[in-house]
Amino acid sequence: MEKLFGLDSLLEPEEIEIRSTVRKFASDRIRPHVAQWFEEGTLPARDLAKELGSLGVLGMHLEGYDCAGMSATAYGLACLELEAVDSGIRSLVSVQGSLAMFALHRWGSEEQKQTWLPPMARGEAIGCFGLTEPDFGSNPAGMRTNAKRDGDDWILNGTKMWITNGSIADVAVVWAQTDEGIRGFVVPTDTPGFSAPEIKKKVSLRASVTSELVLDGVRLPASAMLPTAQGLRGPLSCLNEARFGIVFGSIGAARDCLETAVEYSMSREVFDKPLAGYQLTQAKIADMTLEVGKGHLLAYQLGRLKDSGGLTPEQVSTGKLNNVREAIDVARTCRTILGANGITLEYPVMRHANNLESVLTYEGTTEMHQLTIGRAMTGEAAFR
Ligand SMILES: Cc1cc2nc3c(=O)[nH]c(=O)nc-3n(C[C@H](O)[C@H](O)[C@H](O)COP(=O)(O)OP(=O)(O)OC[C@H]3O[C@@H](n4cnc5c(N)ncnc54)[C@H](O)[C@@H]3O)c2cc1C
Repeated sequence: MEKLFGLDSLLEPEEIEIRSTVRKFASDRIRPHVAQWFEEGTLPARDLAKELGSLGVLGMHLEGYDCAGMSATAYGLACLELEAVDSGIRSLVSVQGSLAMFALHRWGSEEQKQTWLPPMARGEAIGCFGLTEPDFGSNPAGMRTNAKRDGDDWILNGTKMWITNGSIADVAVVWAQTDEGIRGFVVPTDTPGFSAPEIKKKVSLRASVTSELVLDGVRLPASAMLPTAQGLRGPLSCLNEARFGIVFGSIGAARDCLETAVEYSMSREVFDKPLAGYQLTQAKIADMTLEVGKGHLLAYQLGRLKDSGGLTPEQVSTGKLNNVREAIDVARTCRTILGANGITLEYPVMRHANNLESVLTYEGTTEMHQLTIGRAMTGEAAFR
């Protein structure tokens, strides 16, 4: 990849160093165990969160409150290296840093920031982000979860669905309808009336905790509301942050599949010579290399735009749509190169392919990003 695209020439030495550190952590600490976690549908999230906190990747691109304050590009590279091992690990980091911590950092009161951000940056407290509901995913504006005033307090009722980190979270950022429109609430998960049953039987993102959030008369003080987030602008700003990490992360999963397939093709003999020596195999490898290389270039370009403060939501949609879609395609083609071995957990390829099905759906489905890009190109909104 490097010899064809010269990608490292686009990075600062410090960014290359951060990438190496995260790659080493992911290879030493996560890769040896992740297939087993996936098979068992478990994740040692508490221990892992502390280690990821020590590494400095939780809320890595945020300033102050014990966050690392790194460039957006450096954060993206960390996502890339973590997702090269498993999308579930990158999801843990994305939800913590880009959804829950970003919501607090961007929209929270000083007290909320002081209380939650430092322990979250260290991985001592885990956060989740409750936007999606059983009947409202792509169209969160329709949400039914509501918060009603009772004196100075708020009472929250409703159900959130498909919430990453939900059952292990210490704090949930929950979005709800109020008389003033959609508002965000910081909910300590030990508040009476809050529960988060885990969703089982997933065949994708198995090394990631996914949960329902049930809010049954959850009483919160007035200070629990995020003071400055009003309307969908609040949650959408957070989703944009997480999507940015996915632009990089998904290409990490694709890179891992491609590297696995290339190596496999060189050692697997078919019809008396290595699979790599056949033109059909090389055509697959060449085409996939182009997509993985272009995906890196797109991610780096969006990283630079974000670092200079000029990244638009439409540009993030472009990166998310392209890189996740291509990553799935690469994973499936790599699976063909591995033949029957490709369907096992001995190799990471089908695990990545299955994980990427979730990545294709969350943070805006393919169709939502097509509609966003379509609107940007034509001026016509075709969502309804
Ligand atoms: C593993 C996992 C983790 C998740 N983590 C979180 C989390 O932490 N927090 C959170 O809030 N959510 C989370 N989600 C939820 C995710 O964001 C939603 O699943 C996603 O937004 C899609 O919503 P939906 O599943 O309800 O699908 P729907 O909205 O029901 O969509 C179904 C299909 O219809 C298509 N569609 C919808 N509208 C249109 C239209 N106008 N035109 C054409 N096609 C359309 C969609 O693109 C999709 O293909 C997670 C999901 C998964 C799978």
